[in-house]
Amino acid sequence: MPWSLTIGRLGETAIRIHVTFLLFLVWIWAAYYRSGGASAAWEGVLFVALLFACVLLHELGHVFAARHYGVKTPDITLWPFGGIANLERIPEKPSQELVVAIAGPLVNVVIALVLLVILSATLDGTDLTADNLAKIEDPRTSILVKLAGANIFLVVFNLIPAFPMDGGRVLRALLAMNMGHAKATATAASIGQGLAIGMGLLGIFTNPMLMIIGVFVFLAASGEAGQVQLKEASRGLLVSDAMITHFETLGPQSTVDDAADALIRSTQKEFPVVDGAGHLRGVLTRDAMIRAMKDQGPQTAVIEVMQADVPVVEARSKLDAALKLITSAQAPAVGVVDVSGKLVGLLTPENVGELMMLHAARPERGAHPFGRGRAG
Ligand SMILES: [Zn+2]
Repeated sequence: MPWSLTIGRLGETAIRIHVTFLLFLVWIWAAYYRSGGASAAWEGVLFVALLFACVLLHELGHVFAARHYGVKTPDITLWPFGGIANLERIPEKPSQELVVAIAGPLVNVVIALVLLVILSATLDGTDLTADNLAKIEDPRTSILVKLAGANIFLVVFNLIPAFPMDGGRVLRALLAMNMGHAKATATAASIGQGLAIGMGLLGIFTNPMLMIIGVFVFLAASGEAGQVQLKEASRGLLVSDAMITHFETLGPQSTVDDAADALIRSTQKEFPVVDGAGHLRGVLTRDAMIRAMKDQGPQTAVIEVMQADVPVVEARSKLDAALKLITSAQAPAVGVVDVSGKLVGLLTPENVGELMMLHAARPERGAHPFGRGRAG
């Protein structure tokens, strides 16, 4: 991921901070400096740094639980809005997903308990109530009070039963124990969105902050539910089930003029350039074609203006892995090859979108579009 710095490594997991997080620390320093001078500024930065250490431990909770089930995590990135552990996959057994989801908030429960034990020792004798804690004047102790409060907030916030919060996954896992994975996802997403609307309405009458969180949760929940549906649709399918097989190709000798003819003849927007042995050399997009036509003229060789490093997958490989390639690679399409390396198909974001539409239109929602695999 660009714009993030690796600050450490734990086993196979790289720990990264995003550049915006460093800017956020600078902003915190400046904001505290203006109101309370240099000592307040450093205290503010220390608090945020400690808070994010707790967020990192939360993510490590997910990572270690996932590792227990054989799921690797290549990296954790800290953003100003929190941490994201990039798990290779979410375990599909509901009981395992439940454990992985709950492991993060559980870490914050433990941190909060440890901090409260330390605080009750410093208060010795006095009751551990919010009032008494608020009276603490020693700055070193009061930072612990704030940190304990923040960890309790993290537990409550993360357990909101809506995607992409951990609570949404907990809810989905619990539902999936009684219904199919796809139906559980759809139900959990609707519950999450209903909750987000409720939060937004409550926010109008109480705290506007709640309204903002409600909007955020609603949008995030829709996005996450869509992604989960895409994964559901592709599960159990092979690349060959979803690829385009009828398409025009260009040869290494073709010119932009030839490509323009192919553009008119077909409805394609991406044209694979294939050599005599049937191997994919690159892809020419409609935009690149038009640009070349204007700037370099119709006699330009397509090989000069095509995008050369286009990823390829084997037709018999799993579709979900190929979809990851489409979203992560900056390529207009993914080439599909047979065992001998010959181009036999194409995957484009557009035809993946069509696959999704088909999936959604099927009467038995959750079943796979081509009947393969498990019905939800
Ligand atoms: Zn979490």
